[in-house]
Amino acid sequence: ELSRRLKAVASFVYKGATFADIGSDHAYLPAYVCERDPDARAIAGEVNDGPFQSAQSHINKQQLNDRVTVRKGNGLAVLNENEVELVTIAGMGGKLIKTILEEGKEKLGKVQRIIAQPNLDAQVVRLWFLHNGYELIEETIIEEDGHIYEVLIGDRSEAPWKPYGVDREKELLFGPFLRKEQSEPFISKWQGEADKLQFVLNQMKQAKQPDLDKVKEFETQYNWIQEEIT
Ligand code: SAM
Repeated sequence: ELSRRLKAVASFVYKGATFADIGSDHAYLPAYVCERDPDARAIAGEVNDGPFQSAQSHINKQQLNDRVTVRKGNGLAVLNENEVELVTIAGMGGKLIKTILEEGKEKLGKVQRIIAQPNLDAQVVRLWFLHNGYELIEETIIEEDGHIYEVLIGDRSEAPWKPYGVDREKELLFGPFLRKEQSEPFISKWQGEADKLQFVLNQMKQAKQPDLDKVKEFETQYNWIQEEIT
């Protein structure tokens, strides 16, 4: 059974899509999508040999070789130009997702949708979308086995979503859709972040020479969170 996290990602892959799943590990996501949608095609990209082998054997076992191609390589380098219309990247930090997108920009020519599931630093992905012509059209947040995951959907747009003014940083950090929705996993995620910040702040203040800029930065974040979830 596919994890709820990857099901959430899969639910935003449109019918009949030709897509790439980058950092695919066992290729569970492309297999799941292609098993359910006979018109879907996928490329599973993996940079590491172990996961690459696992992906290949899972696809063989599921007899999906005619529709899922497993390729070994770094990020979007496994793709030819204009080969896919949608990209999924799940289960990595937001900074790595950004690097993969940034380094592979020339492969995004025909890519209408990017579905990202950053484990950390979702704001980095939101900012990348904003700067690269992908409008954040939807977000979701789920809890599974005590972990909280965010899924961000960016669609190619002439007029990307623009957070602005005093709220810009907050929109990027919390996510414009998620903060409106105030779902249970959203609140527990940020409550957890606030607890961590409070702990770190206490430690910092006990230091002989606290880094006052850092203290101020963390205090601001802490206050933002309090305003956000209460
Ligand atoms: N996407 C799957 C998921 O969400 O369950 C697997 C997540 S796993 C934690 C991250 C995978 O990304 C690993 O298998 C790793 O080898 C792969 N990876 C990391 N950096 C990569 C890169 N630059 N290009 C392709 N794959 C990468």
